[in-house]
Amino acid sequence: MRIAILSRNADLYSTRRLKEAAIERGHEVRIIDVLKCYMNINIQNPSIHVKGVELPAFDVVIPRIGASVTTYGTAVLRQFEMMGVYPLNESVAITRSRDKLRSLQLLSRKGIGLPVTGYANKPSDIPDLIDMVGGPPLVVKLLEGTQGIGVVMAETRKAAESVIEAFMGLKADIMVQEYISESGGADIRCLVIGDKVVAAMQRQAQPGEFRSNLHRGGTATLARLSPAERSTAVRAARTMGLNVAGVDILRSNHGPLVMEVNSSPGLEGIETATGKDVAGNIIQFMEKNARQSRTKTRGQG
Ligand code: ADP
Ligand code: MG
Repeated sequence: MRIAILSRNADLYSTRRLKEAAIERGHEVRIIDVLKCYMNINIQNPSIHVKGVELPAFDVVIPRIGASVTTYGTAVLRQFEMMGVYPLNESVAITRSRDKLRSLQLLSRKGIGLPVTGYANKPSDIPDLIDMVGGPPLVVKLLEGTQGIGVVMAETRKAAESVIEAFMGLKADIMVQEYISESGGADIRCLVIGDKVVAAMQRQAQPGEFRSNLHRGGTATLARLSPAERSTAVRAARTMGLNVAGVDILRSNHGPLVMEVNSSPGLEGIETATGKDVAGNIIQFMEKNARQSRTKTRGQG
């Protein structure tokens, strides 16, 4: 296969591993910086150019689009889709998953367990919003945050009110969520490919911290999943329309709760913690499933 990897940095672990795994399995690979791409939008002959030269034909495209370039990156990916290139994850699914609230709404429609979550716009609704999610302690989150940035714990009602008010004052889009204390600063990252969890790790936050993100100093170890956790992770990825996803689950007293579904899950932490060849599994998935113009959405909405 001729594989395009959309990544801004060829030196990133995940990009390197995907390239390595693809070459090992006899494929051609080109790493493309989405911000260097520009394109014409027309029906007859959609194309993508980089520095004055049209990109050659590819069979598949692996999007690794950073949160800061979601809009431009998904537009470039959509162009690949219009050209018939098979995307590992579709642009529409990536856009969905980047909005935490939209994701939770889609997941709740399918009856997938979630932390109780509220969303409001007016400061005057804050007291009732806090009651709706069960009162403090609670977690306030920016809808488009990543790596734990923009996730704040409010232990008291006063703290919750002032944090929410401050975010609203800044016109930041936030949601408010019950704090799952029994998870003890840990969560489970499930790496889903197709209809399987191929690797799972438990991430434990540093002492004195509740966010388990590896970027926030969390540590990772191999996790063993229950059948319920496995099926929750697979259903969550499928609901979002993602072939490959990092599904983050909190272990609560009433079963697995999905916190978020990541469309470009990092490979370093999970390959190191589990010893699994996730990059190789991703390439194999594409070998099995890639077909010209095979997308659910064909670049629509
Ligand atoms: P980000 O996209 O920035 O990673 P998350 O929603 O995944 O944001 O939250 C970051 C971390 O904070 C999670 O990995 C988890 O450890 C902790 N966390 C988030 N929400 C909750 C919650 N409702 N209850 C307990 N811990 C939470
Ligand atoms: Mg997260």
